[in-house]
Amino acid sequence: MPDNEPGLATILIVDDNPDIIRLLSSLLADKAEILFATNGQAGITIAKKRRPDLILLDIQMPEMDGFAVCRALKSDPDTRDGSIIFVTAGDDDASELMALEAGAVDFIAKPLRPAIVRARVETHLTLQRQAREMKKLAHRDGLTGIFNRRYFDEQISTEVMRHRRQNLPLGLMLVDVDHFKMYNDTVGHLEGDACLQKVAATLSAAARRPAEIVARYGGEEFAIILPGSDMPDTEKFGDWVLQNIRELALPHPNSPTSTAVTISAGLVSCIPDPHLTPELMIARADQALYKAKSQGRNRFQTYHVPEPRVDRPHAVPAGSFASP
Ligand code: GH3
Ligand code: MG
Ligand code: MG
Repeated sequence: MPDNEPGLATILIVDDNPDIIRLLSSLLADKAEILFATNGQAGITIAKKRRPDLILLDIQMPEMDGFAVCRALKSDPDTRDGSIIFVTAGDDDASELMALEAGAVDFIAKPLRPAIVRARVETHLTLQRQAREMKKLAHRDGLTGIFNRRYFDEQISTEVMRHRRQNLPLGLMLVDVDHFKMYNDTVGHLEGDACLQKVAATLSAAARRPAEIVARYGGEEFAIILPGSDMPDTEKFGDWVLQNIRELALPHPNSPTSTAVTISAGLVSCIPDPHLTPELMIARADQALYKAKSQGRNRFQTYHVPEPRVDRPHAVPAGSFASP
């Protein structure tokens, strides 16, 4: 389940016997949204699309048995996080062991005993909820509540690959608070923390499209991933963010740049080619940020990705900068 998606739990029942599906559905309808499939292949298709929290899986099914379905679900990153409980008539040790080895978390024997089914399902839904909460926390920065560096690193890799595949432009903005050491020295570290929280909240509010990811990259540095954003869009966004921070108007009494807290930013946007790594994209945004700092701060700079030279196919031209 994506990090920012809350909501009701989902249970998928895969069984070739419609009576069992009906019985389980009626037992569990108050606990989750119920999906069902009457064969293994259809179960896998639904699981991939809907990513259920819990899958109740029959072992004996024609064509593809429950073990094969379980192994397929566990080997696919899209479906491996859902918990699988086998529901089966066989209660021998060998089947139970095979089920656990295939990646199931539990085993429910037929004939079904309603109270046991409900209790076991409840336990695994709770464990799933807790795992999801933990995962969410693991993606968040403790001070500001926005995404952390670890999540940013994962997402920038995913987005570079996705944008390369889809031939789409990807934008990236690196932000650094100006003269922040001076801010801490002047108003104190706790006020410094509060300032970072306000800057983070302002950046988050400025990034209005749901797919945009705002992360704390380091101490007083932030990074924003802008899916589908070409260079003009990225620069428009840069203007918008700087304006929002200026309007925040947090006093910075000793800043050599302004009377208020300001930021500098480095922007880059390109359609990723096979040579573009996330690290290279970040390094380019960082170079642009460095330039913005050296040109006086409270501004952004853009890294212009060089066009390949047709007359010297092996040359790798250096990038260049242009003022906004
Ligand atoms: P520049 O304009 O060149 O970016 O200068 P700067 O002072 O902002 O940059 P520098 O890298 O010299 O200092 C960054 C400061 O940010 C130093 C560090 O103590 C502070 N900082 C980093 N993380 C935190 C934090 O979580 N809370 C607070 N209050 N300060 C932090
Ligand atoms: Mg810094
Ligand atoms: Mg700074």
